[in-house]
Amino acid sequence: MDTTPNVSFENTEVAFQYKSDAAMRKANFIFSLVNHPWISAFATGCVKLALKVKLPVEGLIKTTVFDHFCGGESIEKTEDVAKLLGRFGVKSILDYSVEGEKNEEGFDDAMDEIIRTIEKARTSVNIPFSVFKTTGLASTDLLEKVQAKLHLDSNEAHAFERVRQRVDQICRKAHECKIPVLIDAEESWIQDTIDGLAYEMMGKYNKERAIVFNTYQLYRTESLKNLRNAFHTATMHNYFLGAKIVRGAYMEKERDRAEELRYESPIYPDKESTDSAFNQALAFCIDNKQRISVMCGSHNEYSNYFLTVLMEKHSMKSEDARVWFAQLYGMSDNISFSLAKAGYNVAKYLPYGPVRSVMPYLLRRAEENTSVAGQSSRELTLIQREIQRRKNQNP
Ligand SMILES: Cc1cc2nc3c(=O)[nH]c(=O)nc-3n(C[C@H](O)[C@H](O)[C@H](O)COP(=O)(O)OP(=O)(O)OC[C@H]3O[C@@H](n4cnc5c(N)ncnc54)[C@H](O)[C@@H]3O)c2cc1C
Repeated sequence: MDTTPNVSFENTEVAFQYKSDAAMRKANFIFSLVNHPWISAFATGCVKLALKVKLPVEGLIKTTVFDHFCGGESIEKTEDVAKLLGRFGVKSILDYSVEGEKNEEGFDDAMDEIIRTIEKARTSVNIPFSVFKTTGLASTDLLEKVQAKLHLDSNEAHAFERVRQRVDQICRKAHECKIPVLIDAEESWIQDTIDGLAYEMMGKYNKERAIVFNTYQLYRTESLKNLRNAFHTATMHNYFLGAKIVRGAYMEKERDRAEELRYESPIYPDKESTDSAFNQALAFCIDNKQRISVMCGSHNEYSNYFLTVLMEKHSMKSEDARVWFAQLYGMSDNISFSLAKAGYNVAKYLPYGPVRSVMPYLLRRAEENTSVAGQSSRELTLIQREIQRRKNQNP
C-alpha cells in the first residue's frame, strides 16, 4: 500500500519511556534467557518442577517474569501498572489469567471475577475494555459436545443453560456499565459454540454500539467468510458488530488434532496466507466501519502499520473510537507506545492473578519468545538498543 508512514516503531525512547533503568535490566535478563532455546527449556523445566515439589520459588518468579508480564495478583494490585501505562496514553484490559477449577463453583467464581473487572473498568479511565475466555465459564467437553450436535442428557442441557446465563450476566453487566467485553477465541472444535453465544449476546446488547466483541482467528481458512457472514447477520438484525482480529494461538494443537483424527487442517498451510487473510480482515472492518468496531490484537508491526494506513485512506481520525490496537503487557512496547503517542487508541491485555495460578500463562509467554537457534529476537534487540541509548546519554 503506497502511502507515507504516519507512525514508526523504531523509537526505543518512546517505547520504553515508562520503564526505569532497573526495569530495563530486568527485561534484558528475561529476554536474554528465553532467547536461547535450551536455556529457556531448562529454566521452564526447573520452574515446573520447583512448583510441583512446592519449593518456595514464587518470590523469585514474582520479581522477575511475573512483574514483567503481569499487572499484579489481584484487581486492586493492577492499579499502579494501569495508571503508569495510562500516563502515556496506553490503556489496560484486565485479563483474569487463572486457569481455575473446572467445576460449576469454579465457573461461577470466574464469572464473578470477570464482573468485578467490569465494575473496576467503569470507575477507571485507564480500563476501556473487559475480556473473558468461555472455557473459564464452561467445561470444554460440554462446549465440544454442543458444537458436534451430540445429544445432551438433562444434566448437560442444564449445565449448558448455566453457561449461557453466565455469559449473559457478564454481557449484561458490560452493557449496563458501557464497557465493551471481548470474548477470546479458542480451539476450532469449540469455537462454533463460542461464536453462537457471542452472536446471541450481540443481538441483545449491541443495538446502540459494539459492546460484545467476538474474536476472529485469521490463521483459520474459514475466518474471513465467518467475519463477512457475521457482518451480514448484524446488518440484517440491525446491531453493531464488535470484531477482535488476531492470527490465532493454537496452530500446533489444531494441526496435530487434524492429523490425528484425519480431517483437513483448518489452518492455512503457511504464514503468508495467514498474514494476507489478517490484513484483508482489517480492510473489511474498515470498509464497513459504519457497523463494525475493530480491535487489532497483534504484535506484527506491518499489520499495525497497515491499519493506520487504512484509517488514513478512509480519512478517519487516529482517535476514532471504532478502532483499537492491542498488545500483551510486557511485549511489543515499541508498537503500543508509538501508536499511543501518535494518538491512536491502544490497550494492553494486563494479566493478573496469584503467581502460582498464572504460571501456565507465563510459561506460554516464555515459549512464544524463544527464538530459533539463538537468533536475537526483535524484543531483545529493542531492549538492548534502549539500554545502550540511555548509557550514551548518561555515560
Ligand atoms: C491483544 C491480543 C489478544 C489476543 N487474543 C487472542 C484470542 O482471543 N485467541 C487467540 O487464539 N489468540 C489471541 N491472541 C494471540 C494471537 O492469535 C497470536 O498468536 C499472537 O499475537 C502472534 O501473532 P501476531 O499477529 O502477534 O504476530 P506474528 O508473529 O506475525 O504471527 C504469528 C502467528 O502467525 C500464525 N502463523 C505462524 N506460522 C504460521 C504458518 N506456518 N502457517 C499459518 N499461520 C502461521 C500463527 O497464528 C502465529 O501465532 C491475542 C494476541 C493479542 C496481542
